Amino acid sequence: MLTIEKNIDLTPYTTLKIGAPAEFFAVLKSRADLIEAIAWAKKNKKAIWILGGGSNVLISKKIRGLVLKNEIKGMAIKKEYKQAVVVEAMSGESWSGFVNYTVINKLSGCENLFLIYGTVGAAPVQNIGAYGVELKDVFESLVAVDLKTGREKIFKANDCAFGYRNSVFKGKLKGRYFIYSVALRLSKKPILKLDYGSLREKLLEKGIKQPSSKEVIDIIFEIRNSKLPNPINFPNAGSFFKNIEVNSSAYKSLLKLYPEMPSFPVSKNKVKIPAGWLIEKAGFKGKKFGPVGMYEKQALIFVNFGGASAKQAMALVKKIQGVIKKKFGLDLEAEVNII
Ligand SMILES: Cc1cc2nc3c(=O)[nH]c(=O)nc-3n(C[C@H](O)[C@H](O)[C@H](O)COP(=O)(O)OP(=O)(O)OC[C@H]3O[C@@H](n4cnc5c(N)ncnc54)[C@H](O)[C@@H]3O)c2cc1C
Repeated sequence: MLTIEKNIDLTPYTTLKIGAPAEFFAVLKSRADLIEAIAWAKKNKKAIWILGGGSNVLISKKIRGLVLKNEIKGMAIKKEYKQAVVVEAMSGESWSGFVNYTVINKLSGCENLFLIYGTVGAAPVQNIGAYGVELKDVFESLVAVDLKTGREKIFKANDCAFGYRNSVFKGKLKGRYFIYSVALRLSKKPILKLDYGSLREKLLEKGIKQPSSKEVIDIIFEIRNSKLPNPINFPNAGSFFKNIEVNSSAYKSLLKLYPEMPSFPVSKNKVKIPAGWLIEKAGFKGKKFGPVGMYEKQALIFVNFGGASAKQAMALVKKIQGVIKKKFGLDLEAEVNII
């Protein structure tokens, strides 16, 4: 039977270690738990909010309703074809554990996404991406449960509206579905994407021309550990803000003021400006404001240096957004879900 607790502090459940209480809280271990939680919420007229690994959230205020911490586990090969395999993982599995499982089973496609924190179920929510690969590149389908009716629905890639750190689950279906399981199509032969800057450089440095999947995840591990702060030592939520997409003419105007401003192409008329560069240029890199600040090695990472409150965190987020707007005329959007 599902245990529903009252007034539980969510701080320890987030990698930023910033939080507030949940009015009601339950840990899900099975499908039966989920169905029971939905029925309870309906009966008690409470909204439901889902928490995975808490690595992409800034909980800024008390959450009214029922918070469900997802720990539903399991992984299995669902279908096998000549060249590919469809693997299904339950949404409470660790994402990195899942990538490791695929590499051990000689299935290729998500090596570059190794060591991204959090759960399998949250991966489609923001279409996780790293080193030139996004979840959508290997996505087959997912099963979601409607939090109002308890009914199941299958989503194919076309239904998910995947975009840059975005999907329908962050947009018009936000808060409506519980992602129950995710199926990915992986290749039996290695299909490695090795052209992303730091990955390519590391392979060159090591003299590896044709790496195995295992070598790729080992290199990703090395790169990530050298560049990104470990949330255990420096509580953080990865990249806090999204890179900013602008049209070519707006970019040209900005280049007149900042000739060194970097960009990377998105389409014929659009480029993305790295948010980390803007934040660094605005003077926030390595700067602390009380217990919060931006990481010294990577300006995009918001760090809680110890005991920060949600109020202090939100004040810095707003300050940075205000300065970027004033200095560059650009709207800096949080990649992290601010609740
Ligand atoms: C050090 C570090 C590095 C990171 N690097 C990257 C990176 O390279 N690329 C990248 O894309 N991200 C990165 N992230 C961000 C984060 O790891 C991902 O966004 C991850 O997918 C979040 O998973 P989670 O389980 O922790 O989600 P949570 O933070 O718990 O939740 C995130 C959102 O998804 C919703 N959600 C969670 N589970 C479900 C579900 N089952 N059904 C429906 N909605 C759900 C939540 O309600 C919330 O809105 C990084 C984070 C850290 C701390």
